[in-house]
Amino acid sequence: MSQQVRVRFAPSPTGPLHMGGVRTALYNYLFARNHGGKMILRIEDTDSQRFVPGAEEYIIESLHWCGIEIDEGVGVGGPHAPYRQSERREIYLKYALQLVEAGWAYYAFDTSAELDALRKECEGRGETFAYNYTVREKLPTSLSLTPEEVRERIDRGDQWVIRFKMPVDETVEMDDLIRGHVKVNTSTLDDKVLYKSVDALPTYHLANIVDDHLMEISHVIRGEEWLPSLPLHYLLYRAFGWDRPQFAHLPLLLKPTGGGKLSKRDGDKMGFPVFPLFWRSPSTGETARGYREDGYFPEAFVNMLALLGWNPGTEQELFSMQELIDAFSLERVSKSGARFQPDKAKWFNAQYMHHKSDAELAALFQPVLREHGVEVSDELAGRAAGIMKERASFITDLWDLTSYFFVAPHEYEEKQVKKYWKGDNPARLVEVREVLASIDDFSLENTERVVNAWIAEKGYGMGQIMNTLRLALVGAGKGPGMYDVTAFLGKEETLRRIDYLLANLKPVE
Ligand code: GLU
Repeated sequence: MSQQVRVRFAPSPTGPLHMGGVRTALYNYLFARNHGGKMILRIEDTDSQRFVPGAEEYIIESLHWCGIEIDEGVGVGGPHAPYRQSERREIYLKYALQLVEAGWAYYAFDTSAELDALRKECEGRGETFAYNYTVREKLPTSLSLTPEEVRERIDRGDQWVIRFKMPVDETVEMDDLIRGHVKVNTSTLDDKVLYKSVDALPTYHLANIVDDHLMEISHVIRGEEWLPSLPLHYLLYRAFGWDRPQFAHLPLLLKPTGGGKLSKRDGDKMGFPVFPLFWRSPSTGETARGYREDGYFPEAFVNMLALLGWNPGTEQELFSMQELIDAFSLERVSKSGARFQPDKAKWFNAQYMHHKSDAELAALFQPVLREHGVEVSDELAGRAAGIMKERASFITDLWDLTSYFFVAPHEYEEKQVKKYWKGDNPARLVEVREVLASIDDFSLENTERVVNAWIAEKGYGMGQIMNTLRLALVGAGKGPGMYDVTAFLGKEETLRRIDYLLANLKPVE
């Protein structure tokens, strides 16, 4: 690619960023990095009606959590600053007027009452109303009024909008990097509003095209829901006489059941988040769960998202961000929607869990331990987590899996008591206690060697001894191998727990 790659993620701050939006940002980022290009963050906040306080901060924090780095844009700055459209408002009127001047757009003064009347008339004839070539000359517009009348209305302060004058019966031929060649007849399209005098702001279409041009965007990678706007965008580039960027429209994220777009409601119903971070609506107080707060690792979330709509063409499923950057291409993005599978998200998290070092696990596990009132060294926290990580999907799972390492059992699982705290076993526990008491090197290997040799010599059942010991040390029928536990607890604590059981629990008859 000769031209420098410059892509943008251009969200509107209308609420929390959906995971589909995060995926759009991610694909833009991967594409930019893969081509040595730039990733730009532009905030499209010209729709003041839909502006939600806190949404922009949420977007930025989400991208940061995912490790999606911004080269230019809101929060970073850059040669095309400002990158927040509400701060660029003076720019757009000039371009809207340029289109009016050149006959590509027109002023429209119609009031909602006038529009309603026309709509009713239309519907009365059994037609669906569209603001297009069939009505634009019947309404008070600069196409039906004289230039003097237009000037007079503007000067006396009437509200106006500027609309695009969609050509009649022309075929727009478009190329999309994912969908291929697409054709649309312009007579099926309406005359979109480009600019509104009421708030002196452009609409999405105008601001988006003007900014993509001024910011020298080379590729527009965005959600499929924008595909219907593509003909208008093509025509706007033509009207301005500007070179177009290339376009790529990403497939939808579908519900786990397949039909339709993945929504917050699906998440609420089936118990999974559809947003990267927890969100509380500032107006309604309504909350939405987030992957971060639900205990997902950002690397796992990003890995999972990357594969929802793109495939590497190999069997590989686990990718670091750098591996994604190296492998990513738009050619391997699918045309059809990608079905989200909540279990697969958990699977990814578990994989990342299993690959973490004891030190990484310790840092993540310590807050959970502290919450349970356990103060231990990072070394011990990491060791316990490391022993049990293969059975965990989330950091919070580790507490259930390892709590007995830190807290001695004083109550015992009934099922295990009934099964093992009877017959010869209490006497055997006294014996094994003596064997353990005689061992100086309490390492896993040494303890295992000595105790196993003693069991063999005595001809005792390995299962009986181990399960009775497990009852004393863990209090339940769970946990890793017994010698993992003795090595972790050390001699003193191991003997103390055995003594506690012997002194406090009467064998079952
Ligand atoms: N502001 C639009 C959105 O919220 C951007 C669409 C585009 O990327 O062109 O998705």
